[in-house]
Amino acid sequence: MNTENKNGSNGIDINSIKLAQASSYNKLKQNNSDWAAKCIAQDPDFFTKLAQGQSPEVLWIGCSDSRVPANEVTGTKPGEVFVHRNIANVCVHSDMNMLSVLDYAVNVLKVKHVIVAGHYGCGGVAAALGNKQFGIIDNWLRHIKDVYRLHANELDRITDEKAKVNRLVELNVTEQVYNICKTSIIQNAWQQRHDLEVHGWVVDISTGLVKDLGVSSNNSNKLGYVYEFDNALTEAVH
Ligand SMILES: [Zn+2]
Repeated sequence: MNTENKNGSNGIDINSIKLAQASSYNKLKQNNSDWAAKCIAQDPDFFTKLAQGQSPEVLWIGCSDSRVPANEVTGTKPGEVFVHRNIANVCVHSDMNMLSVLDYAVNVLKVKHVIVAGHYGCGGVAAALGNKQFGIIDNWLRHIKDVYRLHANELDRITDEKAKVNRLVELNVTEQVYNICKTSIIQNAWQQRHDLEVHGWVVDISTGLVKDLGVSSNNSNKLGYVYEFDNALTEAVH
């Protein structure tokens, strides 16, 4: 079979693929100008005000999954939510990216709520439950395998795979909430102010609705003594 010229060696029409890619890429630019025009039509000063600065009250730490965008899920506008996302909303105390976002949000923007938001059917969590290798991401998902190990007794009793993934999604969010609370950033903030809460949510993609896991915290009381910092750093600074 002659597959040369416009077709690739496997018979795929490369020109058609390039056209489709160009079309979906150009659509983004068209969407952008449409969105900007719509915002100005609703409020002529929208972007003038936005350009003056931000004072969001919420930090959203969510999954990178394209189906759980922070603003759309919470019905908020640009400027209202500070956002950090990674695969499976993992919060590790050695992740400089997450720590920088958290420190800036808490100590400069003075957000009042930090929300760790997972979602049912999370591919990262499902992959962590399996044994298949996916590449470098396996090292990231190891953190979720550690969450599984902590709750293996409960999870091993769940026979339905989908239910098991969804329960691990909830347990992962809960553990990441604790991880955020254990940071010196949050503990020092709690020593200085009482208007900062950390919450755990799961988004149900099949309904769009959020489940509050009821693990909100605004103090260090439940951290366990080994994780609790005294206020030496705070005293040394002041
Ligand atoms: Zn996910």
